[in-house]
This record gives sequence, C-alpha cells and structure tokens, in this order.
Amino acid sequence: MVFYQKYFSTLRHHSRAVFSSLHSNLVKFKLISQAYEVLSDPKKRDIYDQGGEQAIKEGGSGSPSFSSPMDIFDMFFGGGGRMARERRGKNVVHQLSVTLEDLYNGVTKKLALQKNVICEKCEGVGGKKGSVEKCPLCKGRGMQVHIQQVGPGVVQQIQTVCVECKGQGERISPRDRCEICGGAKVTREKKIIEVHVEKGMKDGQKILFHGEGDQEPELEPGDVIIVLDQKDHSVFQRRGHDLIMKMKIQLSEALCGFKKMIKTLDDRVLVITSKAGEVIKHGDLKCVHDEGMPMYKAPLEKGTLIIQFLVTFPEKHWLPPDKLPQLEALLPPRHKVRVTDDMDQVELKEFDPSEQGWRQHREAYEDDDDGPRAGVQCQTA
Ligand SMILES: [Zn+2]
Ligand SMILES: [Zn+2]
Repeated sequence: MVFYQKYFSTLRHHSRAVFSSLHSNLVKFKLISQAYEVLSDPKKRDIYDQGGEQAIKEGGSGSPSFSSPMDIFDMFFGGGGRMARERRGKNVVHQLSVTLEDLYNGVTKKLALQKNVICEKCEGVGGKKGSVEKCPLCKGRGMQVHIQQVGPGVVQQIQTVCVECKGQGERISPRDRCEICGGAKVTREKKIIEVHVEKGMKDGQKILFHGEGDQEPELEPGDVIIVLDQKDHSVFQRRGHDLIMKMKIQLSEALCGFKKMIKTLDDRVLVITSKAGEVIKHGDLKCVHDEGMPMYKAPLEKGTLIIQFLVTFPEKHWLPPDKLPQLEALLPPRHKVRVTDDMDQVELKEFDPSEQGWRQHREAYEDDDDGPRAGVQCQTA
C-alpha cells in the first residue's frame, strides 16, 4: 500500500509545470511508472493489496511501458497531447477598487484592459497561408528532451521548452511572416469594459466577463474576472448585510439623553434620539432596522445599522471641588467603606500600559471589542 500511495501523491501534488522541470532521475521515474500501473489497473491493485510489491513483480508484465513522465500525465489527466490540455485560454483577473458608497448605491465603472486579439490581417495564421511548418527541432512537440548520464547507472532526464519554436511546435520562415503581428498571430488591443457594480455586492465578489480574455488561435478565449476590492470607510464597517459604526457621546448625553445625526451612504441624514431617562453606558450597542446594506439582488431589503456608543468622560478637575457635593447629591450613592487598623493603605498611581510588556496582552484583549456582542437593543427607524 505505502509504496504506491507515496508515488500516487507525488503525481497528484506536482503540477505539470513543476513536474516537467523536475530533474527526475530514471530510477525514481520507474517507481512512479510502476505505481501508476498498479493504480490504473484494478487487477494489479488487488494483487498488490494482498501480496505487496513482490507479488506485482512476480505476476506483473515486466518493466513499465511509459516512455516519459508526460505520458503518465496524459493518462492521468485524460489528455491527448498539448492541444487537449489547453483548449481554453487563461482567465484574466483584475481588481477593481470600490467604495462602500459604490456597493450601497450601485455604480457602473469603465475599465480599460489590454488584451490579445486574433490578428485581422493574417486571421491568426501568423503569415501567408501554407507558410506554417512543423518545427524541425522538436518535431512539433514544443518540448525538447535531453537525457544525461550523471553517474553510474543514474540517468537524468530534462525537458525544456523548444528553443527554435518557443513551445509552439511550428514555425514560419521570417520572410513569410505577417507584417502586422510579426508571426505572433495576435495583436495587443485596448478594450474598455463596463463593470456594473450592483447594490449590495461585497468586497471580494467576482464579476465575470465570459470569453473576454486573451484570444489565441484554435483556443476558446478565457474569461475576464473582475474582483471587487472595497476601500475602508471612515465611518461604517460592514459585516454581512449590517453596518457598524462607533459614536462618541458626552457623559451628559449618556445620562440625560441626546439627539444625534448620522449621514447615510446615500447622503440622507438620520436623526436618532435616546429616550429621556435612558442611560447609555460606554460600549452599549443600539441599532436601527433597515439602515444597513441593501441585499444583493433584492436591494429594497436592507440589513441593520448597529451603533456602538463610546462615552467621553470629562477631564480631570472639570468641576470645582466645592461643586462636587452637588453632583454627588444627584448621582446614585457611593459605597461606604470602613477602614480598620489591620488593613494597609496604599497609593493609587497612574498606570502606563506601554511599560512592563503589558501592551501585547492589552492588544489581544482589545481585538475582542471590535464589533457588537449579544444583547443588541433596537430602535425602529
Ligand atoms: Zn498577422
Ligand atoms: Zn520546436
């Protein structure tokens, strides 16, 4: 079991490109071939599962019949040579920077792309009709195989892209080449695409332009994929359909109530009011329904706007000491403490969190209060 599983995973985990550049020595290569033979033949697999490697050698057909690692790949991935593996051109991915306002309101953005287009002059032939010939150096395979003896009984096989045709497998003599594309078969052109960013789309969302990738003769062009990249907003943070914001209020507002304004992402102004007698504590969360982000494909429905209140306390000595009793008379009573002789009276000092390596602990702790926790109270808009 272990024997072929090991090489099976070698095969699976090396992409073709990595594999072809691997300087695979022939001994290892034979093991891989054998492993593949075992894997691909259910009968041999059974023999192997029951009797191990020795059973395969005894009952097997001798040396593997593969001539190059490429053959294994072709069998493995169902390919039939180069063309079959590359029937489709590559997809091209572009990032498009958007604001949270763009995602809230929707927007159409124009994006200029450079892409390869089949040459109009030669219609993708690269030269005069009939001027294309098979590359004599690689015999049309696009790859050259070099076998090198690197030691007694050890042979190294190296595959490189053909120097003559640069992997194309064919060539056109210089005097027959198309004067527009110079034999490249394609020309580089600028293309403007219109990207419709719909209401409620998200950071990282992909917008597909089917078949707008680079054109190449005999290949179906790949797609252009636009990936939205949302810039951070100065007020709102998005979480799913909800918007989260922090709002600073004064201690007097926290205790006595307030009216506050919030500018929305579509430039309306919301007025929020805390009811008389309501006390808002530092860190409290409140919300307004239907003022979050619009839902994608159903923009009339909206998420929730969540507001986290940060209470600003007055500075030191803001109140003359003789006024303190008046304030105290209005506030809930202090706890009375009885100090006895067996207690130690110690000094309370300012603490600087940047000292004593305390910072890291504090930062780890602060990560937690990024967003709202359970128990959100709601105000209906
Ligand atoms: Zn041309
Ligand atoms: Zn060649």
